[in-house]
Amino acid sequence: MVNFDTSLLNSGSYINGCWLNNTANTFSVLNPANNQEIATLANASTEDTVKAVDAASEALPKWRCVPAKERSRLLRRWFDLVMENKEKLAEILTAEQGKPLAEAQGEVIYGANYIEWFAEEAKRVYGDTIPGPSVDKRIVVIKQGVGIVSAITPWNFPSSMITRKAAPAMAAGCTFIVKAAAETPLSAIALAELAHQAGIPKGVFNVIVSNRAKEVGYVLTGDPRIAKFSFTGSTPVGKILLEQCAHTVKKTTMELGGNAPFIIFEDADLDEAVKGVMLSKFRNAGQTCVCSNRILVQSGIYEEFSKRLVRAVEELKIGEGTKEGIDIGPLIHSGAVSSVETLVDKAVSDGAKLLTGGKKASLGENFYQPTVLSNVSPNMSVAVNEIFGPVAPLIEFETEEQAIDIANNTEFGLASYIYTRDIGRVWRVSELLEYGMVGINEGIISNEMAPFGGVKQSGMGREGSKYGLEDYLEVKYLCMGGLCS
Ligand code: ADP
Repeated sequence: MVNFDTSLLNSGSYINGCWLNNTANTFSVLNPANNQEIATLANASTEDTVKAVDAASEALPKWRCVPAKERSRLLRRWFDLVMENKEKLAEILTAEQGKPLAEAQGEVIYGANYIEWFAEEAKRVYGDTIPGPSVDKRIVVIKQGVGIVSAITPWNFPSSMITRKAAPAMAAGCTFIVKAAAETPLSAIALAELAHQAGIPKGVFNVIVSNRAKEVGYVLTGDPRIAKFSFTGSTPVGKILLEQCAHTVKKTTMELGGNAPFIIFEDADLDEAVKGVMLSKFRNAGQTCVCSNRILVQSGIYEEFSKRLVRAVEELKIGEGTKEGIDIGPLIHSGAVSSVETLVDKAVSDGAKLLTGGKKASLGENFYQPTVLSNVSPNMSVAVNEIFGPVAPLIEFETEEQAIDIANNTEFGLASYIYTRDIGRVWRVSELLEYGMVGINEGIISNEMAPFGGVKQSGMGREGSKYGLEDYLEVKYLCMGGLCS
């Protein structure tokens, strides 16, 4: 049953400016709030994906010669259309992903901001001149788009993970192919429709929708014509794809898993810290890679902080994302619910104490109660693994050194958060945290102006900001000689 506007949707993949319309092989898209089918789409094959690479390859020579100002104008038009359609896009997003409508609209705008930002940055791909080694030589550095870019994106941010990659690639003069997650292909289709309406030339922006992740992935990581591959998803899948990219030495951007520590020191403003945890932990029902995964609380404030957090968590309203006033929607599918259940049950049997929540909610198969666990120790599986659900594990610590040790004792290094009013501690701890991002008295850190990305096994490369454009550019050095008469 479909109860949203479908005017931006279509039959399947968008390749070379056309819609794939093969009814012989299809796959279904379900609404995670009730498991009802909301779309049946043509299921793209290996051959279809190769056609997308052909299209991107054919479009590349022309697109890279389109003046930056014109590329900028086209991207800006795409941005305007996304903003004009933000309500429709949010409804589609909630229907396929489950997050509350207000959050879905927040994601659409957040994603659109990347298009706007890179439309502006397209005009600022500056080179360099460097003094030469001798009187008759000059060194000039120019920057050029890398070529064809392929990407694979996840279901937790079905709209913004695409724009965050497509906009800088296209701004840099690259052509682009993305495979959307099979759970959430509709936002990708709607973005393609709007890119089409914006007049982005055929072959420049291509979307593959398919549930044959491996087969499509082989093409997107293996075709030698593709210069760069950008992935957002789990660390285990990222490792497989990196290996596949190695055969043709592709440039890669990898936005992988996280295990974010959220450290609250005794001098912190506790109400602000509670607000920060609520935002960073429970947004998208805890299904983000920057969600706080371990909440480290200094012993002097541990009891008081736990009480205030539980109070805030018990106020959260859980339900279908389309309903008014809902804070937490369903998880993406029943597999996600059982993995959260397993982590919580194991923590409790290992000695953690349930302060609130702790089981499936009665609203349907995919709903899990917002949960707070105390007495968690750093080596419990709930603290070692990425939870990807609405579960806040509290870990007590005594000293700054201990907090840093616990925080860094993980293979992940994406986001981290600290709450303190001590400016010396802000600098000390920020510099010692082995993470790509540190939120300081702030629970929401991602925006188009800042470089998002991780270290260690959380990945490589940055998205957003001037650094995000650099990831789609090659540096070319021109050595100019014979300049003396
Ligand atoms: P998540 O846990 O968010 O689903 P995954 O890493 O499993 O994260 O998936 C992220 C994206 O990677 C999705 O689009 C998915 O279809 C795709 N994917 C998963 N496994 C593979 C694979 N072996 N090859 C190519 N793509 C894959």
